[in-house]
Order: sequence, then C-alpha cells, then structure tokens
Amino acid sequence: MIPDPCSVTEASRSIPVMDSVDVLVAGMGPAGIAAAIAAAREGARTLVLERYGYPGGMITGAHVVAVLGVGDGRRPRARGITMDVRERLGRFNAVTRVTGSGDYWVDAEVFKWQAMEMLDECGARCLLHTMACDPIVEANRVVGVFTESKNGRRAIRSRVVIDCTADADLAFRSGCPCEDQTHDVTLRMVITGIDNAVFQAFEKEFPGRAQELMETARAQNGGVMPGATRYFKDIDITDAEALTKVEREARRDCFRSLYFLRENMPGWTDARVSHTASQLGVRQGRRVRGVYTVTDEDLRSSRHFDDSIARLSSYLNGYKLYDPPGLDYDLPYRCLVPEKMDGLLVAGRCVSSDYLACNSLRLIVPCFATGQAAGVAAALAVRHQVQPRGVDVSELRDSLIRQNVYLGNDHDGGISVEEDAVTKRAE
Ligand SMILES: Cc1cc2nc3c(=O)[nH]c(=O)nc-3n(C[C@H](O)[C@H](O)[C@H](O)COP(=O)(O)OP(=O)(O)OC[C@H]3O[C@@H](n4cnc5c(N)ncnc54)[C@H](O)[C@@H]3O)c2cc1C
Repeated sequence: MIPDPCSVTEASRSIPVMDSVDVLVAGMGPAGIAAAIAAAREGARTLVLERYGYPGGMITGAHVVAVLGVGDGRRPRARGITMDVRERLGRFNAVTRVTGSGDYWVDAEVFKWQAMEMLDECGARCLLHTMACDPIVEANRVVGVFTESKNGRRAIRSRVVIDCTADADLAFRSGCPCEDQTHDVTLRMVITGIDNAVFQAFEKEFPGRAQELMETARAQNGGVMPGATRYFKDIDITDAEALTKVEREARRDCFRSLYFLRENMPGWTDARVSHTASQLGVRQGRRVRGVYTVTDEDLRSSRHFDDSIARLSSYLNGYKLYDPPGLDYDLPYRCLVPEKMDGLLVAGRCVSSDYLACNSLRLIVPCFATGQAAGVAAALAVRHQVQPRGVDVSELRDSLIRQNVYLGNDHDGGISVEEDAVTKRAE
C-alpha cells in the first residue's frame, strides 16, 4: 500500500493509569492554584498539573507581578485566596507594594516557592513538568486526562477535571465550543546596564539628537524602546508557528535596536538584556461557551446573580483599571460550567464571557476567584456524586463564604489596607 503523505496513523496503545483522584486541576496559574487549594480544603483528593517547572502562570512566567482587581478603585473588596496569598507572601516581605484599592505587587520567586508550600499544606498534590494533553471522554463526560512528560504518556482518572490552562486546552479538545478572538501579546525583556546619569546629561544637552536616536531605535523595535512593553497584534496564540514568530521577532528587533543604542547613545554602551520572561505574555486565548456567558454589560451595570460565586468591582477599560470605579457585580457559577460537557469546569481567563468582559475577568483577582469557586464546586460534586452542573448553588455559596470569599455578605470587605505601607520595589 502507498503511504498517505498527508497523514500518519498512530498505533493504538494502552496507556497506564498512574493515578485516580477526586479533582484534577490542569494548569498552575492563579486560577489553578486557587482551584486546587479550594478543592483540597473541601476534603477532595486533589492533583494539580503544570507543564512548566514552577507554579504561578503569568505571575511568574511572564513576570506579571501586580495582582490587580482586589478593590473597586477606592477600597479593597475581594477576600478568599486573593487575601490568603497576600497574607502568606507578606510574612516573607514578598509583597512589595499595596494600593488603596488593595491591589498588591509580589516577589515572583517567593511566589513560586510559597504557592507550592500552600498547596502542600492543604493536601493538594502537585505534578510539574507535565502537560495535560487530552481529556479522557466517556459518554459526553470528562473522566480524566492524558498527560505527557519525561515519563511518557500516562492517564489520570478524575471524577471532576478543572481546566485552568488559560487557553481552555482540555475543554476545547473535549469538543466544547469556544470563542477565540486575539488580544495583544508581549514578551517581557529586561534591560540593565544603562548609565542613567550619562544618558540624562546627553538628553539635556542635545535634546534634538537624543530624540532622533530614540526615534531610530523605536523604529527598529515596533515603536518602543528596548525593554518597554511591546504589543504584538492579531497573533493566533493557539498556533505554535505564530508563537515562534513572535518570540523570534521580539528578540531580533529588540537586540537590533539595543545594539544601535549601544553604539550611538551616550550612557547605553553597556546596556544589555539581563533576561527575558520564560513565557510569552498572552492576554486572551480561548473562552469556553458556558451555561451562562458573562457580558460586558453585566459588569458595567453591576448585575447580581442568584448563583453568584464572586462579588467583584474591578473593570479594565482597555488598559485603564477601575474605569469606571465603584462597580459591584457578581460572577455566576454557570460561567464556569461548559454548556454541554459533564465532568468538567473551567476557571481563569477562559471562563465563559464575551470579549470585552474577558478584559476584566482576565485580571489575576478574578482568576483567583473563579479558580476558588471551581475548586469548591468540584469537591461538592464529588461529595454528593452529582455532575458539576448539578451542584447545589446555596451549598456552594455557603462553602465559599466559609472559605472567606466575599459574596456581598458584608460591606467593609473586612480588610484594612495601608496604602504603600510596605516597602516599594521597582519592578
Ligand atoms: C503581559 C501581561 C500583563 C498583564 N498584566 C496584568 C497585571 O498587571 N495585573 C493583573 O492582575 N493581570 C495582568 N495580566 C493578566 C493575568 O496575568 C492573566 O490573565 C492571568 O494570569 C490568567 O490566569 P490563569 O490562571 O487563567 O492563566 P495563566 O496565568 O496563564 O496560567 C495558566 C497555567 O497553566 C499552564 N498550562 C497551560 N496549558 C497547560 C497544559 N495543557 N498542561 C499543563 N499546564 C498547562 C501554564 O503553563 C500556566 O502555568 C497580564 C497579562 C499579560 C499577558
């Protein structure tokens, strides 16, 4: 038989089941960490997988160290794991700045360390360097996950799977319909070694020439100086070729511009890229179509829901936070529940929302919130032997309140924040 050049048939094989758990969480970003902690606190046997060698997702991989969305632009609101993390990192002087709205900045390396400790302490097991590749689907129900790692391909059975991969990898592969409009992509590149005294003196003495050099440098680097945030547009973040192109272009342009400045700009002679983020900064990926899709109008009109699993106030208008301030909206449990697939919940930036709502829900605090709710819901589904869509919402809300989640149950938020009370550190 002549082999088909366009496809290869993979031999079927039997995959060893390495584990069987109550709740399996895929991805250890803010959503996955919160989901695993919350499920374990509710007594579920919980395992959380991460493809990289550290937890934190964008916080640690893309150095997104500002935990935003805690408050309403005037005062803090969110509690639960958002505050547990802040309290824990505070013990290690690893909260480097706090605003009046309660937003806080973290030390990413301490975060990597302490997130693992927090998971360990509540009994959630972690498995790093493990890619969750495909859901195991039986009769329209996700019953586990196939993984790939240095151990090869393995299977893990789970009564509920929570997809916290940010791009809804598992939901998508199980056949859940998803939306996937693009948003800006950024590779963080850190420049050190600029002699600012020399640079600023030159700018002062020869402003025209300095401007001219900077314009040339910017023109070589997508309109920004080396080290400044560059926004790559229209990138299909589910396509490895497209992601490779961004990584190549970001480095090529940045170095070309940097070497131009080293040769021509006083003060830049020893400037260098000290490091680049280990993970490309992706702002939006796939969003799962859930039983309910949160809309921008829901957020802007401070809509409340009977099945609320979080009361939040943050709104990101483009890149402007708390614009407008003072919102007070709920996130319904149904936005974590895929429209048709059972055995599965989603949390983090891939929850069911429209494009504009996602711009706010992708902030770290909403991701902690949806993760915590998904974790508790998954544990309750296991305890009562029901599907996630059948979880009793009033019991879910009671359990979340016991986990100190703010659901509008009191109004001072129970937090006191001294603005900038902790040591500020430049990031
Ligand atoms: C450049 C940039 C700047 C931002 N600035 C801010 C800011 O200042 N403040 C703020 O609050 N938010 C900010 N955000 C948004 C915020 O960081 C993210 O939206 C948030 O981290 C998303 O959380 P998540 O848990 O859904 O996903 P992620 O943080 O992306 O975590 C997903 C995790 O899952 C892992 N994973 C993915 N697929 C698999 C798989 N198949 N198997 C195993 N593991 C997998 C990933 O490695 C990762 O660890 C920014 C985002 C970007 C890109």
